Amino acid sequence: MASAPVRVRFCPSPTGNPHVGLVRTALFNWAFAKHHQGTLVFRIEDTDAARDSEESYNQLLDSMRWLGFDWDEGPEVGGPHAPYRQSQRMDIYRDVARKLLDGGYAYHCYCSQDELDARREAARAAGKPSGYDGHCRELTAAQVEQYQAQGREPIVRFRMPDEPITFTDLVRGEITYQPENVPDYGIVRANGAPLYTLVNPVDDALMEITHVLRGEDLLSSTPRQIALYKALIELGVAKEIPAFGHLPYVMGEGNKKLSKRDPQSSLNLYRERGFLPEGLLNYLSLLGWSLSADQDVFTIDEMVAAFDVSDVNPNPARFDLKKCEAINADHIRMLDVKDFAERCRPWLQPPHAPWAPEAFDEAKWQAIAPHAQTRVKVLSEITDNVDFLFLPEPVFDEASWNKAMKEGSDALLRTARENLAAADWTSAESLKEAVLAAGEAHGLKLGKAQAPVRVAVTGRTVGLPLFESLEVLGKEKSLARIDAALARLAG
Ligand code: GLU
Ligand code: ZN
Repeated sequence: MASAPVRVRFCPSPTGNPHVGLVRTALFNWAFAKHHQGTLVFRIEDTDAARDSEESYNQLLDSMRWLGFDWDEGPEVGGPHAPYRQSQRMDIYRDVARKLLDGGYAYHCYCSQDELDARREAARAAGKPSGYDGHCRELTAAQVEQYQAQGREPIVRFRMPDEPITFTDLVRGEITYQPENVPDYGIVRANGAPLYTLVNPVDDALMEITHVLRGEDLLSSTPRQIALYKALIELGVAKEIPAFGHLPYVMGEGNKKLSKRDPQSSLNLYRERGFLPEGLLNYLSLLGWSLSADQDVFTIDEMVAAFDVSDVNPNPARFDLKKCEAINADHIRMLDVKDFAERCRPWLQPPHAPWAPEAFDEAKWQAIAPHAQTRVKVLSEITDNVDFLFLPEPVFDEASWNKAMKEGSDALLRTARENLAAADWTSAESLKEAVLAAGEAHGLKLGKAQAPVRVAVTGRTVGLPLFESLEVLGKEKSLARIDAALARLAG
């Protein structure tokens, strides 16, 4: 029997900057859709006018594009269930809320916040469940009239069935909620604004979503949504209850849940630091999933081919920035060198680069790029690594200078300069031999001998392979910098 086509959704609320938890959810849905040749619906849950913004909406789309995600239905691509922004679907929700009321699946609740609070406190004190107590479930016509006469504006509340709700989570297995833990809940505010509790499952139903993959923080809303779904099926609005899978929490520093406010969780930070989307996605896929026990680095295509939500681990995943960087570094190494050279562009010009745009030299960049590609973990590191090529003079920091320039460094530098002047500047190997020989003349191994040369020419104690760096910078400039360093040592 052929199974129904997979339809999943990614449905963020445009509030604030995208964070890594959101990206992981998008990734798992996207990979699941691709793996099953299904459909990814991108829906914008912007019913919270106070918190949503157009800027966040644009950022979301821009982030999705940067990550390389495509979607089959949603903003800018359209689809049979358009519109895909909930703020443009209000009539639909009003209509469904009406049907739920008419069918007795929901009712008006006139309780004021103070009354709700007081009863909750009393229930707590008596050791009873403290959720909504069903006060307005069966109001008489006279009571309704009285409330209305008092000018009370009701909310719409969904009537939960008085029986346990069991479902099989794709990640966590069978889960049962007892009715006392899932009280009747609000679906429309007193001002008529529909709530997430209504619009999210209604859209999942209308958009014929088959699998809901989302964060564990939403697990407790699932029994309510299943009950609502059952009502929608009876009303002919929904066809089938989707399968649910809840992705594990992501823990940050100190084993606390990574929060949206955590700087480590901001997607923009990773973009600005020059993570590759493929490196970041590879790492994020490991937050709850793995390709195999002995392979941490893989391409997105490999992930798609292997991804199955039943392999997701329900245990909290730990976000490890070091590992994220190491995996990104591996993806940098995997790039075609031309591609690498192109992707570094933003970090080779202002405002990232401290040199004047006209000081940038394309030929030098092309010559150094292969050596840079083997060194950097993130693309932003490129700027400091190549600044010696484009700045008129190296930037010395005092600590590096003092570390490299020891007693006898001047004598060593003088010999090195002499040897280098006679070397073949079209061969890094020849430059290496020049410095090696200078070291031997002063009883120094290559590592010790090249340190003062490196600082004299690049201003730093660590950097790209030295002899290739000298070759690219060129004879004239390199020797002039050694002379300047000698003068500084003498001064
Ligand atoms: N808009 C919801 C959120 O961002 C989506 C929840 C869901 O996936 O059901 O939290
Ligand atoms: Zn009430």
